[in-house]
Amino acid sequence: MLSFMKVKFIKSALRPPEYPFPYKPEVAVVGRSNAGKSSFINAFVGQKIAKVSSTPGKTRLLNFFELNEQLYLVDCPGYGFAKGSLQEALSWQAMVETYLTSRETLKGVVVIMDMRRDWDDEERLLQKWFEHHKTPWILVLNKSDKLSRSAGLQRKAKLTKILEGVPIYLVSSSKKTGFDEVKNVLFKEWGK
Ligand code: GDP
Repeated sequence: MLSFMKVKFIKSALRPPEYPFPYKPEVAVVGRSNAGKSSFINAFVGQKIAKVSSTPGKTRLLNFFELNEQLYLVDCPGYGFAKGSLQEALSWQAMVETYLTSRETLKGVVVIMDMRRDWDDEERLLQKWFEHHKTPWILVLNKSDKLSRSAGLQRKAKLTKILEGVPIYLVSSSKKTGFDEVKNVLFKEWGK
């Protein structure tokens, strides 16, 4: 598959008037903080464009990138690290839900999850939003290198039951494995 990817940073945005003009099909990437969302994006594009383990609490924006002059990828801020900080959770929800519901070029969402974690409240909330707004999405189980193959398949089977038909992919951002199928979804299905 694609080994070289042309990547261009477009801009950061908080509210719809700041979003870039919707020229291209768009894909959003979300994930719990520390799931490896930044590592996934960097491995996916083959360049360090997303910050790894950025400090919680600083201004968190939607970062728009253009990939291969074909689609826009939006790096959404991580959620979940501020258990107890209701204000932060609410501002994350407002920003991400506004984006998900208002972006007419959004073709799908990639949810990055540390595959050792359980499906939790925030994931259930995302799942509800996607169902309600009929947003196509896939689940990417990251850090597959941390589990044996059979343990990984067991986790996948458990989540398959919960998600009822949502495609699930296993990747390791550290070892750069499992990316071809995800690239197919983004460039051949959503990015057309
Ligand atoms: P983010 O907060 O979701 O953006 O997560 P980061 O990309 O900053 O990754 C969080 C931590 O997990 C870092 O220490 C990464 O090195 C580590 N990490 C990310 N992906 C993988 C992976 O596939 N395998 C392993 N073993 N560690 C990973």
